[in-house]
Amino acid sequence: MEAHKQTNVLQQKKLKTSSSSTNSLCGGGSSSVVESSLPIPDFNSESFQSQSKRITEKLLNSFRSPEISPEGVYIYTVNIQHFTKDVQSTLFDKKPTHAEMLHKNYPNIMFFDSAWKLLDPSIWYTKLLTECLSISKSECAGHFTGEHNKFTCEKGGTVYKPRIKAGAYNPYKKMLSARASVSRSFKVLRYIEKITKNKVYLMQTVLTLPKKFSEFLFDDPDGKEKYLNCINIFIKKFEIFLRPSKRKRKKLQLGVWDNLHDWGSNKPFNPHEHPHLLYPNFLYSSADKKFTRFQPFYSKHQRKKIKELWRESLVQGLNLNNTASIYGDFKDLIIQGELNVNHEYKKEKHEQLHLLKYARRSWLCDVGKYFMNCNKDNDHVRFSLYWNWIKKQFKKFVAHGCIENRTRVHGFLHNFKKVLEDHDLNYYDFRHDTERECDICGNKIINKQKVHGFKDVGELALFVAHKTKYKFVGVLQQTYATT
Ligand SMILES: [Zn+2]
Repeated sequence: MEAHKQTNVLQQKKLKTSSSSTNSLCGGGSSSVVESSLPIPDFNSESFQSQSKRITEKLLNSFRSPEISPEGVYIYTVNIQHFTKDVQSTLFDKKPTHAEMLHKNYPNIMFFDSAWKLLDPSIWYTKLLTECLSISKSECAGHFTGEHNKFTCEKGGTVYKPRIKAGAYNPYKKMLSARASVSRSFKVLRYIEKITKNKVYLMQTVLTLPKKFSEFLFDDPDGKEKYLNCINIFIKKFEIFLRPSKRKRKKLQLGVWDNLHDWGSNKPFNPHEHPHLLYPNFLYSSADKKFTRFQPFYSKHQRKKIKELWRESLVQGLNLNNTASIYGDFKDLIIQGELNVNHEYKKEKHEQLHLLKYARRSWLCDVGKYFMNCNKDNDHVRFSLYWNWIKKQFKKFVAHGCIENRTRVHGFLHNFKKVLEDHDLNYYDFRHDTERECDICGNKIINKQKVHGFKDVGELALFVAHKTKYKFVGVLQQTYATT
């Protein structure tokens, strides 16, 4: 199935002049794609700019999310293995990553987040926030300015991103706001690569616990503290587990970024306590200033062992063996129950960027998504029935710090300054490096410009960030912006 789809991308690319999917992207079947024989419009005129803005808005609104897109728009997970080795070897002297290849095939890309629809949040979102946080409506609102940022990356790709103006509580803006901290962590990974001269994988381990315990902890005033303690205990055990067998007693440290999500992605008002632990596949020893690599994947046996470590950490942290413990009556749910612990690893730079961004997103992004497409009268009936419950839950999640979704930093990442100094690298340079990364390939951005419309762009490929990945949406011809 997947292979078949990928072939279609190629065909679409080859047959771009007659692609029917190009037309339908602009929605409504209007004649948005114009033959190039038409007179060239004045790109600076006001009417052109407002027209360009209207058309871009229409374009972006024509698909709600990658799952529900209008007919004729194909969605592909980015995986460009269908490019032949021949193409790769002729274009580059060394083998490029798949993501870098994308720039060669699509020199101009428009990139935005699948949460784009949240720029104009539901009235229910705004109602909830204004009632619970005593903020004004304008702090939830946002709009597209009609302009784009044009980024050029060091691999030669050009990426356009829509510019927005939005209040601090706008869910789409919240989606973008993790950017600086993501970029910082991404740079840490690149520094470790520089020091070790090794490829660094970004690993993710997500820990969960039985639903009942999520609810207990959420409603226990000390619950968060207790749970964070369980996570700390786990990280210590995990670190020892990851040390090579002959060096278990050496102080080899793991470095972890930990984001505790208190909610379920699709049920933002229901407690579902699950930390996302993100960590490079290296341990660090301060004593001999050396990194030690470990395999980025775990065997079945190892996964089983890690699950047991998490179980032990919960028993210890929640004091379950103490008969007087407040969770004592339900301890068998943890001691004998099934615990879910999931692992994955990201090898490519862009995948690492998108994973970091996803783990650090604010809870408000998921709240925005929950109310998405709810602006109709019958929603009034639907939500008013349990509005008080939603408000009560909202306030609790706010009190849990979910709007900020702070990242806790453990192990050698906690004192990365020391690691840099150990290797004669300048901490000041690291702190003040504000260069950003290309959303498509993860390499450095070498130029940024504000632009109106898409003059001289040729065909424009559309990509959306969706959860931890990004996806190819389709190809547009340049002239769409000029109708
Ligand atoms: Zn790039």
